[in-house]
Amino acid sequence: MFKKILIANRGEIALRIQRACREMGIKAVIVYSEADRQAKYVKLADEAVCIGPAPSAQSYLSMPAIISAAEVTDAEAIHPGYGFLAENADFAERVEKSGFVFIGPTPESIRMMGDKVSAKQAMIKAGVPCVPGSEGVLPDEPKEIIRIARQIGYPVIVKAAGGGGGRGMRVVHTEAALVNAVQTTRTEAEAAFGNPAVYMEKFLENPRHVEIQVLADTHRNAVWLGERDCSMQRRHQKIIEEAPAPGIPRRIIERVGDRCASACKKIGYRGAGTFEFLFEKGEFYFIEMNTRVQVEHPVTEMITGIDIVQSQIRIAAGEKLPFTQRQVQLRGHAIECRVNAEDPYKFTPSPGRITMWHMPGGPGVRVDSHAYTNYSVPPNYDSMIGKIIVHADTREQALMRMRSALLETVVEGIQTNIPLHSELMVDAKFVEGGTSIHYLEKWLAQRRR
Ligand code: ADP
Repeated sequence: MFKKILIANRGEIALRIQRACREMGIKAVIVYSEADRQAKYVKLADEAVCIGPAPSAQSYLSMPAIISAAEVTDAEAIHPGYGFLAENADFAERVEKSGFVFIGPTPESIRMMGDKVSAKQAMIKAGVPCVPGSEGVLPDEPKEIIRIARQIGYPVIVKAAGGGGGRGMRVVHTEAALVNAVQTTRTEAEAAFGNPAVYMEKFLENPRHVEIQVLADTHRNAVWLGERDCSMQRRHQKIIEEAPAPGIPRRIIERVGDRCASACKKIGYRGAGTFEFLFEKGEFYFIEMNTRVQVEHPVTEMITGIDIVQSQIRIAAGEKLPFTQRQVQLRGHAIECRVNAEDPYKFTPSPGRITMWHMPGGPGVRVDSHAYTNYSVPPNYDSMIGKIIVHADTREQALMRMRSALLETVVEGIQTNIPLHSELMVDAKFVEGGTSIHYLEKWLAQRRR
């Protein structure tokens, strides 16, 4: 096992990884920007290295700064967390070339999954169900494009091969708008991602977002750890996640889960990963794979009892998965609410000093956050400042537990989205379970009226 790991991230996930290291008897090196000097995990760190000023381009995205921090502290491995450089294949490559272990998949896997066209082709080959669409990148000839769209059937969605973060996509409802839409998406994709390649898919009108968590070691073992429902989204940003996904028959989920685990073996995947699917009318459709730990990983940890971050570290150290698929048992129901420093209904960011921070507790309540009373939320980064996670025997009890936890929560000095979560936890449709990815936006629009 490693003696020392460098954590190339910030915020709650830096603290989460630091906790995993401490429990495993591994020293953790924290890197931080000048804006994060006061963070709790920086103060608690075995070693901390300032890697630059507040803007992430000069700190958390600076590969040379991070690699030299690993060199001066003699770290053996680098955990990238999520966001920043976590899905950057060049970074993974530079980490390995510099003689460190990258706690994540190979650069080749990251590259393959980072290109949505090659990812989809690999998944089709591995037997994972995908959204019907073009075979690979769209050709130039308008006639061909029209033919492909007719074959798929309208509405279609034109997507950039290099897209991410919900950008580089356009829905097309009629043939008249098609060729122009493809051209515009191409131009935008070239400008935003440096890659003009686009592809086409059937646009699913009212799907849910259901994803499968996997773990794969370097000894050809791969397991899936159940699913998560992350349909509560605003602008493609998830705000509530839960496991299991309400109302989906287990055998349908088991079929897709087994396909994901076997796909990992076929593509030689290693580490933690997530297969993201749209789920509509009883069918799963792969949309993309995330090659890193995700924000919502705790709901899976709660229902499986498996520590995903520690598993990532063990896999990177070359250990075998200590359990088989049969030994993965799902117990109860877990819900996560992301706590964002923002206006709960207008969503404008609300950075600044937290004058009062009181988090809930009790059985089955978990809080992952680096914040504390008198902590200042810097304006430079994502507005998520923590997560409240609950676990109980049934979904009904988990909802009760979350309502109670939110009631106990006090954050003063800045605005948070806690009031929004409190409202959603008693919303009839959410309580019923199974709302689509458009539900929250529609709910918000109605609320404003
Ligand atoms: P990104 O990497 O930018 O997040 P995704 O491929 O994961 O891109 O898609 C982001 C979101 O766009 C999905 O969560 C879904 O809301 C919507 N979307 C993508 N593909 C489709 C599709 N074929 N039909 C309907 N919605 C889609």
